[in-house]
Amino acid sequence: MSMSISLKKTCNVLVALFCLGTVGIAQTTQAPRHVAVHAGHLLDVKTGKLLADQTLVIEDGKIISVGATAEAKIPADAVRIDLPSATVLPGLIDAHTHLTMDPKFGYEELGISVPREALTGAKNARLTLLAGFTTVRNVGASGFSDIALRDAINAGDVPGPRMVASGPALGITGGHCDNNLLPYEYHAVGDGVADGIAGVQHKVRENIKYGADVIKICATGGVLSKGDDPQASQYTLEEMKAIVADAHRLGRKVAAHAHGAQGILWASEAGVDSIEHGSYIDDAAIAEMKKNGTYLVATLYLGDWFLENAERNHVPEFYLTKAKTVMAAARKNISHAFASGVKVAFGTDAAVYPHGLNAHEFAVMVKLGLTPLQAIQAATVNAADLLGWSGKVGSLEPGAWADMVAVDGDPVKDVTTLERVKFVMKGGDVVKNEYGK
Ligand SMILES: [Zn+2]
Repeated sequence: MSMSISLKKTCNVLVALFCLGTVGIAQTTQAPRHVAVHAGHLLDVKTGKLLADQTLVIEDGKIISVGATAEAKIPADAVRIDLPSATVLPGLIDAHTHLTMDPKFGYEELGISVPREALTGAKNARLTLLAGFTTVRNVGASGFSDIALRDAINAGDVPGPRMVASGPALGITGGHCDNNLLPYEYHAVGDGVADGIAGVQHKVRENIKYGADVIKICATGGVLSKGDDPQASQYTLEEMKAIVADAHRLGRKVAAHAHGAQGILWASEAGVDSIEHGSYIDDAAIAEMKKNGTYLVATLYLGDWFLENAERNHVPEFYLTKAKTVMAAARKNISHAFASGVKVAFGTDAAVYPHGLNAHEFAVMVKLGLTPLQAIQAATVNAADLLGWSGKVGSLEPGAWADMVAVDGDPVKDVTTLERVKFVMKGGDVVKNEYGK
């Protein structure tokens, strides 16, 4: 630290060209930056144990030690953060967001340009981070606006969570991920539309070319799309096998939007890594998912918000009719899937409701049968596993990024405390601290 300051001072009296070079050297030889966080309580999300009086030591944005405060070796230069009355746990992970979108439904969506989407994303990235979600998997955006947002966050240009981003979702012509609002003469086509084996292979490769970390597909119809049936399969088993083969070979996981039971079964059989929504999941689909280790990312709180606010948000009748049927069925079927022991990762579909309310999902998961600890694990260790980032996010252990949140009370007793996150740290930087120090 001191070295870089003295170099900067020297720069003031030297020519600009030389200084640019010097600053470059200063950045690479900077002393490690240390932070020590003292937690009154720390939740071990793997065991559910609430540990008292713990200290985490952070170096250059990563955790180097965690343990009893009395035994912590805190470097002399460490910035100290004291949270004696709080419970600290890993930064939360939302495996299903659409940061570049807001609750706008039907024909209102058509007036939004790709650059406008990107700016909406900058707003929502900040809100999501402040709500305690330090990592998201963003599954579907227009024009690679999500990739631009991810890169802007990584460059430090805008605040936001770490993003695993998909680019446009793949879907069949006329399917949930196409644009079906306009008549033929407008020739409106969703960015991710691809049909047939060769078509989907090309689209997977194109998405990866333009920066996709994960591949999102629409296996069945959806709720917020015109003229299609949520229960009907859209991609064939063969198309999905081709998508998964290319994605996995190129090092990307696959997330499948699927409501209908057959589409869930086929997507799992094809080898996708997660089923999104899963509204009509049945015993055959549950068995297939358990056999293949497919995660279920049920997005449930959106049903409450959407139906309560439909009128105010000008939701068209052709969405609302589907929503009422699908959302009621989903509650029953997802509850059965939870009880049957499928692997669960936390996801919200934020964008269907305002970003920042993501943590409201926890209470619904608990209402449908998960324990609070299981719901927290879904948003930490499980989601990290689904993203392929185990050991980096979702747990507070040496080597992980220093991403953490703090709340009042014990979230294992009252999971709604996660709706009121008071402290957020991402990569060792304090993003929010309502505890005052
Ligand atoms: Zn979605």
